[in-house]
Amino acid sequence: MEKYERMVEELKNKGQRLTPQRLEIIRSIARYENKHPSLNDLMEDVRRTLPPLSFSTLYNTVMKFEEMGMIHLFSINGETRIETKIKTHINIVDRRSGRIKDMEDAKLLGLIKRKIKSDDFVVNIIVY
Ligand SMILES: [Zn+2]
Repeated sequence: MEKYERMVEELKNKGQRLTPQRLEIIRSIARYENKHPSLNDLMEDVRRTLPPLSFSTLYNTVMKFEEMGMIHLFSINGETRIETKIKTHINIVDRRSGRIKDMEDAKLLGLIKRKIKSDDFVVNIIVY
């Protein structure tokens, strides 16, 4: 649960409150590892342990985490997905299944970095 501990540590360091909701949402994000869950995935998962969680609490919490740089949010097929890998990489999106795989091809990333003149990016490539 390395990701869980790292995120909890970040919240503490930034003087944020560790509410049961926040901790459970972090636990769920960590459980999904690098699978880029949607907000609905998280909602279903967290509601198993914290049934009274509302969608707006989940949404506001996830937005807060993004503001703090703990995660990134992006949209695929009209659905908000969560990126937990803060390192530069490429997301390969299978449009049919909606599954997203991380790719860290150093050569390819080098080419993109030179093209866009930036080190900080996530590229989403959709496979049709
Ligand atoms: Zn990714």
